[in-house]
Amino acid sequence: MLLWIETIIFTALLILTIYGFFSPLYLRYKLLKLGKSETRFDTPAKRIKDAVVSFFFLNCTLKKERVFTGIMHFFFLYGSLTFDTVSINHVLEGYKAGFHLLGHGGARMIYSAWADVFGIMVLVGVLYFVIRRYILKPKSYTYPSRESVFIYLLLVTVTLTFFLYEGAVIAHNPAETYAAFAGKEVAVWMQAVAPMNMTAVKILWWIHILNVFAFVLYVPRSKYLHMIAGPINIAFQDYNPGSTIKTLNLEDENAQGFGVVKAADLTWKDLLDGFACIDCGRCDDYCPANRSEKPLSPKKLILKLKEEMLKEGRAVLKSNQQKEFEPLMGRIYSEDEIWTCTSCGACMHVCPVKNEHLSKIFGLRQSLVLMEAKFPEELGTFFKGMETNSNPWGFGSSTRAEWAEGLEVKTLANNPDVDILYWVGCAGSFDEKGKKVSTAMVKILKEAGVNFGILGREENCCGDQVRRLGNEYLFQTMAQANIETLKKYNVKKILVTCPHGYNTFKNEYPKLARAAGTNDWNVEVIHHSEFIADLLRQGKLKFKQEIKSSVTYHDPCYLGRHNNIFKAPRTLLSETGAKMLEMKNHSNHSFCCGAGGGLMWTEEKLGKKAYQLRTDEALETGTQLISVACPFCMTMLDDGVKDKGKEETVRVKDIAEIVAGCL
Ligand code: SF4
Ligand code: SF4
Repeated sequence: MLLWIETIIFTALLILTIYGFFSPLYLRYKLLKLGKSETRFDTPAKRIKDAVVSFFFLNCTLKKERVFTGIMHFFFLYGSLTFDTVSINHVLEGYKAGFHLLGHGGARMIYSAWADVFGIMVLVGVLYFVIRRYILKPKSYTYPSRESVFIYLLLVTVTLTFFLYEGAVIAHNPAETYAAFAGKEVAVWMQAVAPMNMTAVKILWWIHILNVFAFVLYVPRSKYLHMIAGPINIAFQDYNPGSTIKTLNLEDENAQGFGVVKAADLTWKDLLDGFACIDCGRCDDYCPANRSEKPLSPKKLILKLKEEMLKEGRAVLKSNQQKEFEPLMGRIYSEDEIWTCTSCGACMHVCPVKNEHLSKIFGLRQSLVLMEAKFPEELGTFFKGMETNSNPWGFGSSTRAEWAEGLEVKTLANNPDVDILYWVGCAGSFDEKGKKVSTAMVKILKEAGVNFGILGREENCCGDQVRRLGNEYLFQTMAQANIETLKKYNVKKILVTCPHGYNTFKNEYPKLARAAGTNDWNVEVIHHSEFIADLLRQGKLKFKQEIKSSVTYHDPCYLGRHNNIFKAPRTLLSETGAKMLEMKNHSNHSFCCGAGGGLMWTEEKLGKKAYQLRTDEALETGTQLISVACPFCMTMLDDGVKDKGKEETVRVKDIAEIVAGCL
């Protein structure tokens, strides 16, 4: 089809386009190598399967949060895949007129119709996204969108020039029609305007192919790189349950610092997150900090890191690593952003490409606390209370078991031969509402004939809150002391009423124990929701009275989203006879009470109060009883109900109190 001079120009452009596509990919690969190493190669078959399934079935975006948008993405993906094939064909047509990858039989017949269908779908998808992004403008789409303008333009021009070229071919040679129904319509229109000759066909081919080249060149340079980086990011996702924090080796004499100060302190996977980000804003939509008008936007957190790598990282590479990265805090991140995260994990749950926001936030907090002793001033008293008395309120540690006086509860010091250790926790030991939960738990355990004991004065805080607040040194000190106590009594089973303790004992202590040389660490950890549901299932608890009112259940982030326990609390609540009402955001999409990530101990000075937003959601159900399964949620929602003046009509109770009330 092309003259020899055109063939030379076309070949040169093709080579430049291929180079132009791969060179930014190579640059980004080199940028990732500036990050710390991290091994994410376990379970390779699962990783590959998850990436492939997400790519082809788009289950990453076709999720509950935005089903319709997911369908539009489906149009884009299959439209793009179709056009990739069409474009390869068009490139080869440049060398051999009339060439078709699928030959000239039935397969091409079907494919020509398929290409037209997806061409139209791409245009519908673009229209949808333009309306959504630039007319409806949801809050989560307010951060950079220039790249979207370019890509939408390119998608439209590539598709329209495809139809024009297809129409021109059909108009010039009607034998080429096949089942290209849209192309045929364009051909009719073209023939009505002027007879089609080969020169016009060739001009339209050039226009189309140049648009395709522009699209190919733009993808790796823009957020549309997510088409490649997204599935790779999904393949390297963190499968560990819980809001895991990397265990720092605080005894490393060669360490130049702890936590994340600069971009190079993050791992390659952390850096990959920025290139995988779709800029969809789902994380912002579900972030309690963002929704309560705090300065934190999980989307910006990720995108700012990408900008850092493309600007500073490039400069570091250019200088042959003579130049160093600058500290992130105070430059691209503010303390108000970092200290308003509740570590609820909603952002990570809804992220279609499995970005990990928390590893960055925790790393930054660690460096602020460990290296600069910088933290919200209220935390000074909190850390002191933890250091001296191992509880956040600073109550004398010798008074830890006073709540149990008169309840005839065994301590392991006197009766080490128990089946299960009831780890009461700080709130259960010192907080007035928490003590009621502990008392209810004792009633349940006794009623069911469980042989349990507590540590009493030997119990300390599990350390979850200090860890989430970046004080890794204090956490490791506290955790090692607890591990020694558990080893001393050969504890094999722990019952907890606090999801934060549950997460720490279950997901974090085993790693610490192993790091300290205890290779046979084998302690089962059970949350009271599961334990009570199990006692009910075994018939060890018999209810003497039913709950007559309605009840709604607030999923604690560290029990639900972080540890996948949704069913047990609902099962036991339904056993009480109460009428279950679900809140708008529940289960995996539960909205944090605002106390996670150690924020229970800071003042919520910015924006709206997250706990009030959650209380509103609970009250909207019309419930008379809000059930919780976490001492922090209890405090926040109880305050929320009081703020709304509803304490006379709506009660907030832990599931243990509700069950104990039925015995
Ligand atoms: S963990 Fe929760 S609070 Fe923190 S950024 Fe993610 S959604 Fe927001
Ligand atoms: S981090 Fe994930 S959820 Fe947030 S904007 Fe990027 S892709 Fe979307």
